[in-house]
Amino acid sequence: MAKDKGKSGEKSSPIDTLYNQMEKARPYLDISDDHFLKLKKPKRSLIVSVPVRMDDGRIRIFDGYRVQFNMARGPTKGGVRYHPDVNLSEITALAGWMTWKTALMNLPYGGAKGGVSVDPEALSPGELERLTRRYITEIAPIIGPERDIPAPDVGTNEQVMAWAMDTYSILAGYSIPGVVTGKPILVGGSHGRLEATGRGVAFAISLAAQKMGLDLQETTVALQGFGNVGAVASMILHLEEGCKIVGVTDRHGGIYNDKGLDVCKMNAFVKDGGYVHEFGEGDALTNEELFSLPVDVLVPAALEGVIDEGNVDNIDCKILAEGANGPASLAAESYLQDKGVFVLPDIFCNAGGVIVSYFEWVQGIQMYFWSKQEIREKARQIMASTFKEILAKSKELGLDNDLRTAAMVISMERVYQVHKLRGLYP
Ligand code: GLU
Repeated sequence: MAKDKGKSGEKSSPIDTLYNQMEKARPYLDISDDHFLKLKKPKRSLIVSVPVRMDDGRIRIFDGYRVQFNMARGPTKGGVRYHPDVNLSEITALAGWMTWKTALMNLPYGGAKGGVSVDPEALSPGELERLTRRYITEIAPIIGPERDIPAPDVGTNEQVMAWAMDTYSILAGYSIPGVVTGKPILVGGSHGRLEATGRGVAFAISLAAQKMGLDLQETTVALQGFGNVGAVASMILHLEEGCKIVGVTDRHGGIYNDKGLDVCKMNAFVKDGGYVHEFGEGDALTNEELFSLPVDVLVPAALEGVIDEGNVDNIDCKILAEGANGPASLAAESYLQDKGVFVLPDIFCNAGGVIVSYFEWVQGIQMYFWSKQEIREKARQIMASTFKEILAKSKELGLDNDLRTAAMVISMERVYQVHKLRGLYP
């Protein structure tokens, strides 16, 4: 395929991918240059330094960020990422995707993202707690249940959210559970939030399979990433849909087994501190090899930018389900769509997490909690009706097999209409 590189010869970055996706959707919107620029510009970006006393007594300073990309439709919403590669540009792109994701799902939110440039695996539990408490203190002036509501993302979890809620509450002098979602149930979390993103990915795949006439009992699946998204999605696909999971990798590599992997056993092994490649019931598989496996469904469920001009030619799947945010460059995605691959775009495919975050926030405000069954059913309804809406929009616009652009048109149109109605202050 044509080289997916910018003028500098660099690979496309997350922010390039986000803006390329927006530019592709633009001709389908009746929008002026000025208004389009308003959609592209992040509303508020905060950079903080996060000093942490390490266990050896020394102080290390980490860089932290919170970007509120667009707040026209409501309080901003989006996760907090702990990863060594976190930087302002990446967080801005992720905040942009949250904006389009919440708008697509018609949740009453804008989009945000935060993060700290740190390897959480290299910290002790005490260091991780102190880092979290100081980061939340630094971003406290711009977050809150009515302003901006963080949640887990790569490298953060329920425990981190409990510390975040506690820190914000201590600063205020009373308990404010609604400041974050993805909390443990005991501190105001919701049933079904932990599994929500993975369950949503599995459901999105079942919707796509139905549309394509694929029998999931006969399909093979490979996943990159075996964290909260990949592991849950693989177990649901295996146990509830009857798929055969043939390949799984994490950042250290992985394994392949054409007879199918016991992903539940693998999940228990990983929860006990093991790595996927050490699981043993298959052949060694590198991340690069994973993207060349002939499978029905390929699920990138780790980080952005893993599919580009360098490896897209090798991809051999029928459905690409974007569990991660921004896993494919626009050029790579277009190439796959032209080849007939059904791409489930991230802002739809992984939206199960933020949908149930919304439920958690609503339950917290009402102090009235719902059952797991109710939550699963309500989340499915939102995903199923949004899928229909995206398909109808792609048909209406003649965007055959390009669900991403159809979804972006729906989202951008929603935010643009709100910009117009609210007008420009002053
Ligand atoms: N980090 C997740 C995402 O990328 C969830 C965000 C949320 O629940 O607010 O969608």
